[in-house]
Amino acid sequence: MDCIFCKIIAGEIPSHKVYEDEETYAFLDITQGTKGHTLIVPKRHVRNIHDIDEATAKTVFARVPKLANALKKAFDPIGINVINNNDKPLQSVFHFHIHLIPRYEDDGMVLQTEDNQQDLSEADYQAVREAIVDALD
Ligand code: 5GP
Ligand code: ZN
Repeated sequence: MDCIFCKIIAGEIPSHKVYEDEETYAFLDITQGTKGHTLIVPKRHVRNIHDIDEATAKTVFARVPKLANALKKAFDPIGINVINNNDKPLQSVFHFHIHLIPRYEDDGMVLQTEDNQQDLSEADYQAVREAIVDALD
């Protein structure tokens, strides 16, 4: 399979590994959006959040606090963003991964603009809530 993260996990492509266990692998993002920007992935190849089974999701999400705490201890950021991108154009590598992005004063990272708050009525909230509830399996 031509998957860059599978190759990293297999050691065929070098990475700056920060953590590994039987089911997960964590390494520095090649694009250090901020100092310590880390990716955690399941060793099992799975495309994204829409394909991941609950057991694999449980394993990979369960490792996030451990890594977040290490980043906090190592770099004393003002906070940490935990992000997971799914599908084009958000997702560029199609092996499920969670970004841990330590944040620092004036780091220039823009994840959300302040002016994109939507002005919803109570009916709007109810319609949004119902659409999600109806879509739950
Ligand atoms: P996505 O946009 O899919 O959520 O993010 C994929 C991330 O993988 C990007 O932040 C990108 O910098 C990172 N990435 C892509 N190729 C490599 C690589 O070969 N090594 C490492 N360490 N990170 C990579
Ligand atoms: Zn893969």
